[in-house]
Amino acid sequence: MYDDSRTPLETDVEMRFGVPRRDFLKFCAAIAATLGLPKGAEAEVAAALAKKERPPVIWLHHQECTGCTESLLRAEHPTLENLILDIVSLEYHETLFAAAGHQAETVRKASQEKNKGKYLLVVEGAIPTKDDGIYCKIGGQTSLELTREVAANAAAVVAIGSCASWGGMPSTPPNPTGSTGVGEALGRKDVLTIPGCPPNPYNFLATVVHFLTFGKLPALDDKNRPLFAYGRLVHENCERRAHFDAGRFALEFGDEGHRQGWCLYKLGCKGPETHANCPVVLFGDVGMQSWPVGTGHPCIGCTEQGIGFAKPIHALADLKNQRPPVGYPKVGDDQGNGATLGAVAAVSAVVGAAAGAAAVLTKNIKQSEDGKE
Ligand code: SF4
Repeated sequence: MYDDSRTPLETDVEMRFGVPRRDFLKFCAAIAATLGLPKGAEAEVAAALAKKERPPVIWLHHQECTGCTESLLRAEHPTLENLILDIVSLEYHETLFAAAGHQAETVRKASQEKNKGKYLLVVEGAIPTKDDGIYCKIGGQTSLELTREVAANAAAVVAIGSCASWGGMPSTPPNPTGSTGVGEALGRKDVLTIPGCPPNPYNFLATVVHFLTFGKLPALDDKNRPLFAYGRLVHENCERRAHFDAGRFALEFGDEGHRQGWCLYKLGCKGPETHANCPVVLFGDVGMQSWPVGTGHPCIGCTEQGIGFAKPIHALADLKNQRPPVGYPKVGDDQGNGATLGAVAAVSAVVGAAAGAAAVLTKNIKQSEDGKE
């Protein structure tokens, strides 16, 4: 028999998103948690997403590999199709568009006109600026001209991926095309950046949901990255952190330490100087360990300008701080060599305290050298 006891919101959600209400609410709770919102905020997120208004989005591609879009296509809660059709109105996207040529450009221009001041501009890829930007052209316009035109009337501009954020891979020396990020190319300081190669799709989804729920972009750090995603170092939440604290390091790929899942610091892991939530949010919805360090590869620092694609993989990371992890490991877990976490924690506390004191001392010495203290 047909169950008509559901509320209009529940029915609407099931019809629009094509997922059971329970799954929808789980997604809202996960996004609220990703955003660091207080308990109960998932109801506000659900109410905002269930609204019929969908913000128009114009998505431009420049010098890139389309990995950012590919990464988004791997998001499952909801799938990209749901996101496109039900959460935002994707007006223009060169990879996913059925239209081509003049037809596609006509649709973009019409959307810019109709949604003046209301649409979100998402940029994927670096922008070449050398020789008047002739090294990347779309529909007869250079990337620079096109981005300037579309950004002029956008409600907000989002740079997705490291290339769009600061230049990423295309801007590595000798940078023959003068590639740079959107903010620098446009001379604007208000471009929100979601760096990563690829960026985590949930960080983009959560940013869009924040925009929908609160009508504004989330709080940002000094590089315009959302604090909810880039506020902590990879090292702080890494599942191998206990091994770092206990001094257990893989020294070669395939050695005993590497096979045991020990810390990858001495293989060049840049987690200690890279801000990102990769170890917490993970990738691809395939469960635990679906991130580089989880699969045995050192973090390359792709979310950090000056480290990702700039610092050689063999170079050791600078140890930025010695704060203890907030998520890993669980107290009492066996760390694979017979030592319990309790024992490791005791050693770590001593090591951490000494390292912390050393870090403070180094900072104080530096400040006194600079004449500030
Ligand atoms: Fe994890 Fe790398 Fe830090 Fe080791 S150095 S704990 S592998 S982030």
